[in-house]
Amino acid sequence: MKITRLSSRLIQLTRYPAVFPMNCYLVVEDDGLTLVDSTTSSPADDVAAMVRQLGKQLSRIALTHAHGDHVGGAAGVRQRFPGVEVSIGQRDASILAGDKTLLPAEPQTEVKGYFVKVDWKPDRLLQAGDRVGSLEVLASPGHTPGHVAFIDVRDRSLIAGDALQTRGGIAVSGDLRLLFPFPAMATWSKQTALKSAVALRELRPSLLAVGHGAAVSEPMAAMDRAIESARHAFG
Ligand SMILES: [Zn+2]
Repeated sequence: MKITRLSSRLIQLTRYPAVFPMNCYLVVEDDGLTLVDSTTSSPADDVAAMVRQLGKQLSRIALTHAHGDHVGGAAGVRQRFPGVEVSIGQRDASILAGDKTLLPAEPQTEVKGYFVKVDWKPDRLLQAGDRVGSLEVLASPGHTPGHVAFIDVRDRSLIAGDALQTRGGIAVSGDLRLLFPFPAMATWSKQTALKSAVALRELRPSLLAVGHGAAVSEPMAAMDRAIESARHAFG
């Protein structure tokens, strides 16, 4: 995997960087490391190398949403690091378990994208406002009904999962970029995704780290462009 140190607290690990980039992240905490997302296949070897290099344990895995290219690698990491706590947003936990039934209050559009069968259950179900180490959980539905993002309260780095992409051009989830159309094709509710992107922008993040594509520092102007483009595209 390609390793990019975004700051002393945030390391990006990218599977298939040239062809189909999928990011996961290691967040460095005083008491250990948190892995955010896991790509399609286990990043355990690379995580183990970072664990050795940083002299810290892997404490937690936090998942932004239930798509296979974010949760697929978690099984291998759990095996390599027994006792690690795995968390995911409460709403996407049912999707992870195979139930794509929509709630009455939700937009009644199809839950899309690539899913894998997992042989494990999350240890912890996240709600907005919860903390995973220094990461605050942010509701960011739209790409999936229960998508969550994470902001590091120490430096306001935002790990946005697939709420936005930067590969092929920055975009709100659902706003198609021809050079990398897959996140848009896997998006459940574009209008909901747009509201979430606006809410994330309001938090004035110092860095935007996404599931697919390079991180952007001081991302506010870029996020404004993405939001404007999505408003236009979604009508
Ligand atoms: Zn996704």
